[in-house]
Amino acid sequence: MEIRPLIGISTCLLGECVRYDGGHKLDRYLRDTLGQFVDFTPVCPEVDCGMTTPREAMRLVDFDGNIRLMTQKTNVDMTPGMVSWMKEKLNDLQELPLCGFIFKSKSPSSGLFRVKVYKNGEPTNFGRGIFAQGFTDRFPLLPVEEDGRLNDSKLRENFIERIFAMHRWRQLNQNPKTIAALTNFHAKHKYSMMAHCPASLKILGNLVANHNTGDINSIYTKYFAEFITAMKNIATVQKNTNVLEHIMGYFKNQLSSDEKQELKQIIINYHNELVPLIVPITLINHFIRKYKPEYLQQQYYLNPHPKELMLRNHT
Ligand code: SF4
Repeated sequence: MEIRPLIGISTCLLGECVRYDGGHKLDRYLRDTLGQFVDFTPVCPEVDCGMTTPREAMRLVDFDGNIRLMTQKTNVDMTPGMVSWMKEKLNDLQELPLCGFIFKSKSPSSGLFRVKVYKNGEPTNFGRGIFAQGFTDRFPLLPVEEDGRLNDSKLRENFIERIFAMHRWRQLNQNPKTIAALTNFHAKHKYSMMAHCPASLKILGNLVANHNTGDINSIYTKYFAEFITAMKNIATVQKNTNVLEHIMGYFKNQLSSDEKQELKQIIINYHNELVPLIVPITLINHFIRKYKPEYLQQQYYLNPHPKELMLRNHT
């Protein structure tokens, strides 16, 4: 059976009625589209730590730098129950092969970015929900995003690409750690790295090449930190154009002059933002099927995530 990436997700985004008002925040794209290709492990910090539904709304309050989770009307501090549940929950999550987490925005428990923090009754600052903070402290390298930001096509493509890269990394780690296996992983991600962060491609190349300098576990650890951090950089039109030109250069001798001209023109059209990335990628994949250059066939850059997600139709 195919193993799919496992993603943590705020429970209300899957349509479960766990919100303070008894409602949900179903995100159909996440549940019905992305959900066809990944498995979800839902987490609702408030309900899972023992709160009822419905319940009084809460907010983050700053008491001289000490951020607490407080009920809005009755001013009860809910932080201790949340923190004690969270300690165990994070230990449980550590045992899972998580490839990322999608948080519900704005929540004082689950919000990842710009959650309002109150002081003397007024929102004076922005912070992170209590659980989102605990999660990112414990798993600083895991891909994380919020539902709202995933409506941005570039952020969505970047996040989902990272999920699948993380999944491949976990699969690599299922096997004995060897330099040969790591070198193979690195070779297949060469153009992905070039599209996200050319500087990291060099650093990772040096790390793999100079493998005599450390034990295999520490090489894997260093490699992963640089790799997954580099993937966070958005693959811009400029960087993608550079990669497409490198790929064309790799097998230009196999292409007929008509094919070369056609591919060149399509790369120019992409660079001028007349067509999305999927257009040159589709043509390149067509030529790869025709000429079978082994090195390019293995490049994840050309198929980083399921095509049914159509992520490159909008970037
Ligand atoms: S935002 Fe988080 S805490 Fe609130 S209902 Fe959704 S999953 Fe539960």
